[in-house]
Formats: sequence, structure tokens, C-alpha cells
Amino acid sequence: MFFFLITCITFIFFYKSLFLKPLLPPWAYEARLLSLWFWKDLSFFHITNLMKNTLYVSSIQIPSKMLFKKTLNSKVENAEATEGMMMSLLDLPELALECILERLPPDGLCNMAGVCGDLRDRCTSDRLWEKHMKQKWGRIIGPAAYREWQRHIASRKDSSFLEQGQRRALMRYLLHLWPLSLIRSNFDNISQNKSSPPVDSIMSWYLALNTGKFCFPAQVYNRENGHVGFLLSCYEAELCYDPFTNTFQARYPPHGTRPVVVERGVSWDRIREPPVDTSPHDLHISDCLNELRPGDHIEIQWRRNKEFPYGWWYGVIGHLESCDGSDDFCLCHRSDTVVLEFNQYAPGSRWGRTSIDRKDHREEGNEADGFYGGIRKLHNNDEISTWKWLWPVEVLD
Ligand SMILES: [Zn+2]
Repeated sequence: MFFFLITCITFIFFYKSLFLKPLLPPWAYEARLLSLWFWKDLSFFHITNLMKNTLYVSSIQIPSKMLFKKTLNSKVENAEATEGMMMSLLDLPELALECILERLPPDGLCNMAGVCGDLRDRCTSDRLWEKHMKQKWGRIIGPAAYREWQRHIASRKDSSFLEQGQRRALMRYLLHLWPLSLIRSNFDNISQNKSSPPVDSIMSWYLALNTGKFCFPAQVYNRENGHVGFLLSCYEAELCYDPFTNTFQARYPPHGTRPVVVERGVSWDRIREPPVDTSPHDLHISDCLNELRPGDHIEIQWRRNKEFPYGWWYGVIGHLESCDGSDDFCLCHRSDTVVLEFNQYAPGSRWGRTSIDRKDHREEGNEADGFYGGIRKLHNNDEISTWKWLWPVEVLD
């Protein structure tokens, strides 16, 4: 009987220690007071790996002996006495926990968000996801893509508002049938998805992009594979990411009577954020005409006819025919005529050279040669290098 009583008391203490705080031994609370140099000693890499390996459990526990081995030698006896007791991750000091979360990759944060409500709030915060968003998507996501995302989440909020209305109607109906407490517990279970991030969070946007569920507008270099005449041009498309191939599907808008064209397997280096916030159907206002001089790198809008959207074409400013190109005598930058050269085309090609009016440039062209639109001067060396990298191996006719 006495043995049975002792066993019961031991079990009750053990059971309480699982659910009630404080659950840590006294030395663990002293450890919280240690200064920051202590936490530097922790191997974040080790802890991060440890967390990755233990994310599937419902609470994360770091063996206390592993953490405090170096610094708490004097407490060895206590530690041994409490061997088997675990420390919750959330019991780490705030700074240490934040440092760990900042070092987690996106999939680690997603897993961690599913552990408990507290970690969900931390791991879905915009502050943590901003960095990941910038690293992976910053180069190709522009204002147009952001506006599209805002429209997307507005429509999702509308639909969730409708769903809420339907849930309230169902609730009113059920109240006539079952006790309130029974309905509420079941209803909460059905209606709450605790691991999904807020719809307007950066994490939500990142995941929508990363899974290909959200397609966005961007530009694709040299749209027609195999059609060399289109090399060194850039066209607007709707892009969907394919996480399995790490490439994109590009959906080009219909051109006149032509149907939508879809290209698969578009690599990251062929995509860019639209450099100006102008619709491909609008003429870009050229604000660089007065400063253009021979040797400058430019992009100019061009479209085959007025039903087509504009693409951007790479070129350089050339010399007038009356100029021999010598630096000492060149006055081309003072002329009202600006010569544009597209040296990817063979000399004599009708696509190789054209000119525009510096003072009064509008859309110019005809149905045979297409229409030239607005010009932007390239100031960024990365942009110029990209065009050079795309330079065709063969001269174009
Ligand atoms: Zn000149």
C-alpha cells in the first residue's frame, strides 16, 4: 500500500510538471540572467539543425545538458538530479530566440509556424519574411506585380468575408438543434486553420509566388526562342514559377488576332522587373532625349503594329552620316536628329538603323517596319551587361 501511495504521488508531480510553469529547474532561471557573451557561445548552426530535426514534434525541447554544459559545471549535481527534464524553446531569452528565427530558411520558418500559436505569430511576421522576399524575388518583382498581388488579396478577403457570412448563417441554424458549447467547439475546429499565415502578410505573398499559385507580370528577354530576329528584345508576360524545375512559365498576352503564347522552362536570368512603370500598351514618355549623345546605351519601345503591345529593344546612339565619329569634331549631340543603331543586325539591314526627332519625338513608323515608341537611356551597368550577355552569336539579317 505504501509503495502504491509513493508511486501515485510521484506520478502526480510528474504530471503537473508537464503542464504547469515553472517547469524548469532553479539553475535554468539563473541561466536567463547570464550576459550576452554566453549566448555567443551557443552554436546557432547546431541549434538550427536541431530544430529542423525536431520540427515534427508538437513542442521543441533542447536537452538541457547540451546547452549548459560549459557554463554550469558548478550545478552538475542539480543537473544530474533533474536529468530528463526538458527546456522549452520559448524559454530561451528573447534575443536568442529571435537570432535563431532570423537564421531559419523559409521552409524552416513554415515548419516552425506549425508548432504552436506563439511560434506561429513569430514565424509569420513580416519582419522575418522581408529578407527572404528580397533575396529570392526582389530582382524580378516590381510595382506592377505588387499591385496585382494587392488585387489578389482584396479578392481573397472578399471571398473569405462571404465565407464568414455563410458560417454565421450555419451557426444560427445549428443553434436551434444543438447545445451552444458543442457547436462552438466543433465550429472553431472547422473554421480555424491555425498554421496558415494572414492573407496580407509577406509570408503569404512569398508562398504564393514560390508555389506558383500567384502569377505576376514581369519582362522576359528575347521572347521567341529560335526566332533570331527577336533577340535583344524584352517582352511583358505573366509569369508563374514552377518550384519543381526552378523555372517559369511565361504567358504572353494575345497580339492582335494571334492567340496567347505560352513558353515553359524560362530561366531566372531571362526575367527582369519592368524597368519603368508603363503599361506595354502605352507610349513611354522619353525624358532623356536632350542628353543623348553617341555611344549611349538605350532601350526603345517597338511594336509591329498598333494592336500589339510594345516590347523593349536594345540599341546605341550613333553618329549622323555627316559626322566622321571623331571625338574632336563630333557635334551630333547638338543636332535635332538622333541616330539609333541596332548593331546586332547586319550592316544594311532595314532593322539596323533609324532616327528620331530630339525635340518632338512621338511614336514613329509604319505597318511595314513597325512603330518605334519611347526611349530610356541605360545608366545601370548591370542592364548594359545583360544585353551584352544576350548578344547573338550570329549577326542578324
Ligand atoms: Zn558624331
